Formats: sequence, C-alpha cells, structure tokens
Amino acid sequence: MLNSIKVLNDKCVGCGICSSVCSFGAISIDERPENHKNHKNFKFAVIDLNICAYCGACNQACKFNAIELKKDVSLYGVDKSLYRGVLIYAEQRHGEIANVVYELLNIGKRLANKLNTILSTVLIGDNIKFKAQELINRGADKVYVCDSPIFVEFQDDPYTGILTQLIERENPEIVLIGATNIGRSFASRIAARIYTGLTADCTSLEVDPETRNLQQTRPAFGGNIMATILTPYHRPQMATVRHKVFKEAKIKEGKNGEIVDFKVDVQTLINRTKFLGFVKDDSVIVNISDADIIVAGGRGLRKADGFKLLKELADLLGGTVGASRAAVDSEWISYSYQIGQTGKIVAPKIYIACGISGQIQHTVGMNLSDIIVAINKDSSCPMMQSATYALEGDLYEIIPNIIKEIKLSRCQ
Ligand SMILES: Cc1cc2nc3c(=O)[nH]c(=O)nc-3n(C[C@H](O)[C@H](O)[C@H](O)COP(=O)(O)OP(=O)(O)OC[C@H]3O[C@@H](n4cnc5c(N)ncnc54)[C@H](O)[C@@H]3O)c2cc1C
Repeated sequence: MLNSIKVLNDKCVGCGICSSVCSFGAISIDERPENHKNHKNFKFAVIDLNICAYCGACNQACKFNAIELKKDVSLYGVDKSLYRGVLIYAEQRHGEIANVVYELLNIGKRLANKLNTILSTVLIGDNIKFKAQELINRGADKVYVCDSPIFVEFQDDPYTGILTQLIERENPEIVLIGATNIGRSFASRIAARIYTGLTADCTSLEVDPETRNLQQTRPAFGGNIMATILTPYHRPQMATVRHKVFKEAKIKEGKNGEIVDFKVDVQTLINRTKFLGFVKDDSVIVNISDADIIVAGGRGLRKADGFKLLKELADLLGGTVGASRAAVDSEWISYSYQIGQTGKIVAPKIYIACGISGQIQHTVGMNLSDIIVAINKDSSCPMMQSATYALEGDLYEIIPNIIKEIKLSRCQ
C-alpha cells in the first residue's frame, strides 16, 4: 500500500480551513466541476498530490471529516517494541565530563522511570573508563565504555561510527545528546545513518507512557513559538538538549551499576580528517552560564552606564552581570552577556533582574534560577509577579542602597 489522501466530495463544504493549515500550499478551494453542480456547496477543496507531503494537518483540522488520509506505516515505521531504554551520550573532553551530561542524566532518569526502562550512558574516549562510576553515581544503570586511542580527541567520523554501531546493537528508544559544539556536530550524522529523526536544541522533554513517544519541545519560527515535535514512526527518538534547561542529577556515592566494555573494531571506523592540534579559545571573556550570582540589567537601565552600577553590585556579591536583549540591542553591553532564548541559558543560585519586564523570551533563559530578585518600577510586570523577592521602585535608588548596606555590613 502507498500513502493516499482524498477529499470526500459529499462532506466537503469548501470552508478553506484545510487550505489555511497546509504548510505546503498543496490545497486550493475551487468551484465544483459540472458533475458536482447539484451539490449544495458551490466550492470544494482540491489537493495537489504532487505537492502534498501527507503530513495530516488538513485531515486533523477538517471539522467535517471530509479528508481521508491513509498512511502506509510500513513506508515509515519500525517495530517499536524492539527498542527499549534511554541512552545518553556522556560527552567528555580531555577526561572532563561536560556539565550538560549530568543534566541529561537527570531528565533521562525521569523519562526512563516513566517508561519503566533503564538509563544507560556511553563514554567514548582514550583511557576513559575511570569516569564510568561517576556516571553511575549520577543515576546511570549501565555505562558502555568505548575506549581506544583513536578517540583521544573528538573527530566526527570515528565518534559517529562507534555511536552508530552501539545504537544499532543496543536499540535504545531514546538517545539524548548535549546541544554543545560536539553534540551538534555529530548527532545529525548519526540520525541520518540510522534513518531516524533528530530534534535539535530542545528546551523541554516529556514522554507519553502509552505511546512511548518523546515530546521534544524547542523554539521554532525564529523563536516566536515553542514547537513540540514527535518521532512517531521511527526509533530511536533522538534529541540534542540545551545546557542549563534541566537541573543536574544528584550524586549518590557508591551506587551500583553495570560497566560494559563495548568492543571497538578500528577497521570499521573510517576517518576522513586528521587531528592537528587543540587550540583553546581564550577570547571568551565571560561565561555567565556557570555563574552562581547574576545581576542582570534591561531597558529600565536607560543608559550604558547603568551597567557600571550593576557591576559594582555583582563584584560585591562575587557574581557577574547579565543583560536582556533590549539592553544588548541598545549596545549598552555585548551579546555574550545576553540571557534568554537567543542568548545564554543560566541557572544561578541568585538572579537579580534590574529593570527587566520578564518577557517569555527572557525568562526561558533564567527561570531555573534558585532565587529571583526583581527590581522594577512596575509591580505588575511578569518578572515582579514571578520573583521570589520583588522590590518595587527606581533601580537607581534601590541598588545604591543595597550596595551601601553590603559595604556597611562588611565594615562591622
Ligand atoms: C525571536 C525573539 C527572540 C528573543 N530573544 C530574547 C532573548 O534571548 N533575551 C531577551 O532578554 N529578550 C529576547 N527577546 C526580546 C523580548 O521579547 C523582550 O523584548 C525583551 O526581553 C525586553 O527586555 P527588557 O525587559 O529589558 O525591556 P522592557 O520589556 O522594555 O522592560 C523594561 C522594564 O524596566 C522597568 N523600568 C523602567 N525604568 C525603570 C527604573 N528606573 N527602575 C526600575 N525599573 C524600571 C519597566 O517597568 C519595565 O518593566 C526576543 C524576542 C524575540 C521576538
């Protein structure tokens, strides 16, 4: 059987809803041909089968059940019952595990529990086995170790090759990879090799225990909507996940788990590139993603100099400054300080938002902060409403007072 779609002429009223939801422009609303002329509705939908992607949007939107869609799942599907378990790629560089891995272990465990399955991780590197217990202590039930000198530095080809081999042998139903430079580079190659989908840069993950479908949410259309994406016909379901959108898994020293040496046959791993050297990027002056205290400024600062005041407070608290996009767009501070959907994601212990209204595009970047202090003239703005502590008033009066109090308390 092949995919088929047709408009049921007796049911179609020509309302045009199907045409408005079709992202492919495959549906037009036309006048009925002569042999339909006795039909009470003068217009009806016509689907151009050369353009139609059989996505089903029209069929779901039609209130009159006038579009019949038959999908040939054998064209797409795999036997999903053969795939079980959640697998996390434990990214490491020079023996140091990337922090995003601990966050993935936290969400991975939650998903595995909901699916009543196990959580595994895979370590790829040279002499890397000593890191396996650390992953078990953070919640992994099983750690696959792919150890070989060929993995001493990250290179797309061999890393793609070995992770593809592991996935094909172990058949996990979910594979999560950090949306880091490394993760972004090779996750798509793996997905293409194993004929599955990949949702990049997810900011939230859920799972439906009945269908076992992973609900992968990420910003779409330039960040104007949050889209939840499913991979209903293929397995595994693959996603890269942004740093700092989940809390790290807690450490349980001495937890039990299985460590499995995964056989690496170097002959099967092609490598089309040659590693010449590793050059650390020293140009990155700030890394606000890892800061414990952030004093962030927005349009309410009104001028670039406002950041000098925020810096004074941040220095006193041992933190760093951050900014809303409005402040960055006004060129008061550089983009590397921007927090939010198109900036950095942060999760400090204390986030002090000064003159920031709290639009969703900003809050998605900081709403995991432990304590949020908002300083704003407008007590009804979203940041003030959601803050742990809301200080209403002019930031140019409130902040100097806080600074004065801190200095005084340190003199005593
Ligand atoms: C696709 C897309 C992506 C985006 N990405 C981001 C992003 O990554 N990060 C981001 O921040 N934004 C982002 N934005 C922009 C976002 O929608 C908001 O426009 C932006 O966050 C507003 O910044 P703000 O809160 O500083 O300014 P405003 O919304 O103008 O708020 C200024 C606040 O300052 C207060 N205020 C004024 N004067 C004082 C004073 N003297 N003392 C105390 N309070 C005062 C006001 O009451 C107000 O609440 C994005 C938008 C889009 C469409």
